Amino acid sequence: MPVTPLHYPFAFLISKSNKRLILPALVVGSVMPDIEVPLMWIFFSSLPDHLFLHSFIGAATVATLLTVLVTRFLYAPIISTIFGIDRVDLDDACKINPWMVASSFIGVMSHLVLDFPMHWYNPILWPMVDPFDIVGPLILLLEPSFGFWTAYIIASSLTHASMIILWIVILVVLYSKGNLWYHHWVGRSSTA
Ligand SMILES: [Zn+2]
Repeated sequence: MPVTPLHYPFAFLISKSNKRLILPALVVGSVMPDIEVPLMWIFFSSLPDHLFLHSFIGAATVATLLTVLVTRFLYAPIISTIFGIDRVDLDDACKINPWMVASSFIGVMSHLVLDFPMHWYNPILWPMVDPFDIVGPLILLLEPSFGFWTAYIIASSLTHASMIILWIVILVVLYSKGNLWYHHWVGRSSTA
């Protein structure tokens, strides 16, 4: 997995593809599957730490539902407290409606899409297919030249580096527009 917050830039880009997508739901969804990682360490240490929420089945159900709830009830209070964004605008952006639910789902899927190429096992088709049978394509591409584990480290580093660069670009562009944190956390809205 890319370090969890590094899923943000991809979610932000997706938000630019359609005006009706809800940035807060995309952002929460993009990090949601990783909440299972510490839980797996603590409660199921014999199993892979990416499993249920990194599968299509778990992502489309539990992770999407959790994203809807966290976006609706936690996003506005947390982001308004930390970044000083108007609470009314945040609450307005986080209302539950069909586009917010769709954005939650898309955000969660964006997590799986970003994890997939660089991860050395992928539970996307769990429980039908063993996660260890699905190696990320970026690793397979690099493996002949570098060997498996070095290929994994390179694939992981490339993913991290591209997300960090993308995030910096996003921050610079939003800063130049003014109202940086509003656009970073709320996105477009009728009141912006
Ligand atoms: Zn992940």
